Amino acid sequence: MKEITCSFCGRKKSEVSILIAGISGHICEDCATQANAIVSEESKSKLPASSDKDLELHKPADIKRFIDEFVIGQDDAKKSLSVAVYNHYKRLMQKSAKDSDGVEIEKSNIILVGETGTGKTLLAKTIAKMLHVPFCIADATVLTEAGYVGEDVESILSRLLQDAEYDVQRAERGIVFIDEIDKIARKSDNPSITRDVSGEGVQQALLKLLEGSIINVPPQGGRKHPEQKMIQVNTANVLFVCGGAFDGIDKIIERRMNTAAIGYSSKSEESVDKENLLQYVSPLDLKRFGLIPELIGRFPVLTHLDPLNETTLRRILTEPKNALVKQYVKLFEMDGVKLTFDKKVLDFIVEKAIEYKLGARGLRGICEAIMMDAMYELPSSKEKEFKVTLAYAKEKFSRSKLSQLKVA
Ligand code: ADP
Repeated sequence: MKEITCSFCGRKKSEVSILIAGISGHICEDCATQANAIVSEESKSKLPASSDKDLELHKPADIKRFIDEFVIGQDDAKKSLSVAVYNHYKRLMQKSAKDSDGVEIEKSNIILVGETGTGKTLLAKTIAKMLHVPFCIADATVLTEAGYVGEDVESILSRLLQDAEYDVQRAERGIVFIDEIDKIARKSDNPSITRDVSGEGVQQALLKLLEGSIINVPPQGGRKHPEQKMIQVNTANVLFVCGGAFDGIDKIIERRMNTAAIGYSSKSEESVDKENLLQYVSPLDLKRFGLIPELIGRFPVLTHLDPLNETTLRRILTEPKNALVKQYVKLFEMDGVKLTFDKKVLDFIVEKAIEYKLGARGLRGICEAIMMDAMYELPSSKEKEFKVTLAYAKEKFSRSKLSQLKVA
């Protein structure tokens, strides 16, 4: 009988170690490996098309449902973000499909206004995780106008490039989160007479990035070196999400609302929720705070985050996919110990986070203070179960450094 051969290279079965049979032919391991290399090379060059397909899958409600697994509350911000991201990617698809009806969907950059520690960064991170797009966080406070001490705005894109492993095409569809955008507000509502290199100057420099142009990016970030070869990145399809606490903006909102109420029925004033004025934030308030109108104009989506109350903090402890309580249970499980918390302990942790004004970020520190000794001792003991009681939690917390932090 004739010996079977590879239908691609013709080598005989005895000359190769693996020969895979198909319907009317065979392929040897070497040809299979080579074919695989060709396929991955080809699909790399067709990346935009394949990522379009990925993006199509996520409807706003799906995006929100995904964020819900990680972020508690903040429904308004979640909805705005989900719709903005969805529209953004629709826009990308429209571009690649070369629609010629003249309707061009504009970019939907987003500003999130909310107190520190309420989940702004977490929201942006979670969305990037879902979309599998490059993502970077930049801090607006370190940026200065080109030529001054500090980082140039282009350095933001260096980070995005790094996250995209220097695949420029991927980076050009990424998401950039710029934190503390409120820190580059100009010092007063009036255009400055003296030069304002860390405020208005940076806002001007950012405009170029936001409006979608080709930017020369230093690959390593930081200061530009003349000898460094620049990489050109087109920001037309990069989605910018900015976050800021905008301390004091509540006063601006209140003032505007009071003025607006004059002459109208006082009914509208009655329904104003004074505890959470951020929900009424408008572009005008951002302008009064010190953002320049050109910059505000490039952020069509403005949304707010609610302050975290007791109920939300309690849910943050237990509900998110990687909630703190779940993490500790997992850590102990790895040592074969079944860890449980008394409900009152969780209430106690929340109570302390509020009392010490630590917010959601503080939850972790308080848990660590309570759990440290148990984490140290249990791995070497024979215990198979460990229940954290209120008395235990109180005792451990009172001995911790954290308990001395109490704010006056
Ligand atoms: P911000 O950017 O608003 O200052 P972060 O997003 O960095 O705040 O939040 C700090 C941490 O607090 C997060 O890593 C997360 O653990 C927790 N956290 C804050 N808000 C929420 C929330 N709404 N849901 C779940 N966790 C939250």
